[in-house]
Amino acid sequence: MAQSYSPKDHEQRRVDQYNKTKGGLEGYDCPECNNRGNFARLYEDNGYYEMVMRPCRCMKIRKSLWAIEKSGLSSVMKKLTFDSFETSTTWQEYIKNKAIAFVKDNTDKWFYIGGQVGSGKTHICTAITISLFKQGKDGLYMLWKDKTAELKGLMNTEGYDKQISELKKAEVLYIDDFLKTPNKKPPSSADINIAFEILNYRYINKLITVISSEWALSDVIEFDEATGSRIKELTGEYLLTISKNSKKNYRH
Ligand SMILES: [Zn+2]
Repeated sequence: MAQSYSPKDHEQRRVDQYNKTKGGLEGYDCPECNNRGNFARLYEDNGYYEMVMRPCRCMKIRKSLWAIEKSGLSSVMKKLTFDSFETSTTWQEYIKNKAIAFVKDNTDKWFYIGGQVGSGKTHICTAITISLFKQGKDGLYMLWKDKTAELKGLMNTEGYDKQISELKKAEVLYIDDFLKTPNKKPPSSADINIAFEILNYRYINKLITVISSEWALSDVIEFDEATGSRIKELTGEYLLTISKNSKKNYRH
């Protein structure tokens, strides 16, 4: 004889069965949800019972791993961390403290570090970006010279709009070597236009932006007042410039 179940028992059985199934999510092995990424539970509304879903906490980890993978930073994420950032001098310690404060405080501020080559700018900005991804934020890495070369090749096509729109709208955008040119020549008007298009959108929408550059912000303001002043306004205390002298003093 078939057993009879109340509607509540019936839904509860579906919930229990669902929670025993194996999921197909890859990249992170979660024993709690068997890589389904969610749990079923019984929901009651006025005597009606229904199976509903809630996400497993591994989804936050998965989201950050996807963001790192998509950003193109996965190959350096283990190497370029806050812990491995060298702080043998006061200015290095200052940079590291500012970067950590930025990750902790950040709501809608930007981070800009400009100046001398070989001073760990890429390292510190990568560490910031990875930390933001680990908070569950989504984002993109943009190597300025390569990406703008690609964009210029796509000018006046649909591809251009699609690509630049991703950079404009990313929850977090890290621009590495902003406005880099061969032999430190002033950037072209095409470069300036791309910079303004991306950064003005991000400025209006207060989207987190992390920038490293060989140029001091004063140089950027000279090239283009509109872009430079927006960076200045949104970075505030997170505007760092490493000066040209050999002791690598910082000023801001
Ligand atoms: Zn899980």
